[in-house]
Amino acid sequence: MSKEKTNAWGRETMSVHGGHNYGGETGAVIPPIYMTSTFESGNAEGFDYTRSGNPNFRNLEQVLANLEGAKRASVFASGVSAITAITSTLSSGAKIVAEENIYGCTYRLFEQVFAKFGIEVEYLDLTLQKNIDLINGIEPQLVWIESPTNPLLKIINIKLVAQAAHEAGASLVVDNTFASSCLQQPLELGADLSLLSTTKYTNGHSDTLGGVVCSASDEWGDKMVFAQKALGLQPSPFGCWLIQRGLKTQELRVKRHCSNALAVATFFESEFSDAVVRYPFLESHPQYDIAKKQMLGGSGIVTVDLGMTLENTRDFLQGLKLFTMAESLGGIESLSCHPASMTHASVPKDVREGVGITDSLFRLSVGIENEEDLISDIKSSLAALRS
Ligand SMILES: *Cc1c(COP(=O)(O)O)cnc(C)c1O
Repeated sequence: MSKEKTNAWGRETMSVHGGHNYGGETGAVIPPIYMTSTFESGNAEGFDYTRSGNPNFRNLEQVLANLEGAKRASVFASGVSAITAITSTLSSGAKIVAEENIYGCTYRLFEQVFAKFGIEVEYLDLTLQKNIDLINGIEPQLVWIESPTNPLLKIINIKLVAQAAHEAGASLVVDNTFASSCLQQPLELGADLSLLSTTKYTNGHSDTLGGVVCSASDEWGDKMVFAQKALGLQPSPFGCWLIQRGLKTQELRVKRHCSNALAVATFFESEFSDAVVRYPFLESHPQYDIAKKQMLGGSGIVTVDLGMTLENTRDFLQGLKLFTMAESLGGIESLSCHPASMTHASVPKDVREGVGITDSLFRLSVGIENEEDLISDIKSSLAALRS
């Protein structure tokens, strides 16, 4: 049975039914995993070797392109592979303007790998108009932002930065991982590329790694296919199959992540009058108005600074039973993270503190568990700390 795909479908329907159903003659409701390295030449679908394409890649790419409002999408082995693919298109001497609160692994890739090949990155706080105004003079080829950022959850005005990037002749790359394709469409807001670590909300089950780059142009689409095969950045068919399975429930999951995270953020804010609680959909968030404009929900991450010592902060996180202390985010289970000793440990301390990542800051990736269970877990760990 073949179903007619339509771009008029809502995101929920597209997530469940999108993509080619390579079911063939078996009637399989879910497409198989094509664990093959190579394909007989001259096949009707045009596959040749799995490094440059596979039915499981193509299926996932079609759905992700649709969800991101993109013309093209290329999947990769991880979010870092997607970042590598984009950066590898630059030549020695090229400049990148990046938001200063960029993901730790992106920073490490720029500074410890691509710097050796003559790529220079200038880091700016792109929530400030005066810094957006500097982009033109720097003459970058790429402007690189995340919104919300990790872990401070700053919201960057994607439309404004896209305009500034284009005036400077640069392409805007948005790392859309924290918002997810459910809550934010960077290409619609003017970005040239939207990348995701599909490891996070897209897959949502913390059981595989993946990445994708979505673009509105064939020029970028072709460059990403080239990077996929020339650099060997391709995912595995099984990984893509898992991500596609996770993707089918993304809309449901992300709604729950948003409501649970808002409840947790509201709890911290009401319990601790001098705590710094960051959540894009709290009215106290410095860029609340922009968040409301460019996102459909606040997503599942809450960043808190209770001003405790490093030791007490770690004790509090270790005392939580439903939040596992672990890197990563966007899975169904709640996780906690202490950036100074975990995700941002590779960022020098002065650079880290310069962008606001103090020793007492922690980040919660709020899962889809029962809201009251999560709040009482937090209360218990706080109570244990006080006694
Ligand atoms: C996790 C993450 C990455 C890297 O993705 P991997 O799949 O772990 O390689 C990049 N950007 C952001 C914002 C992330 O959260």
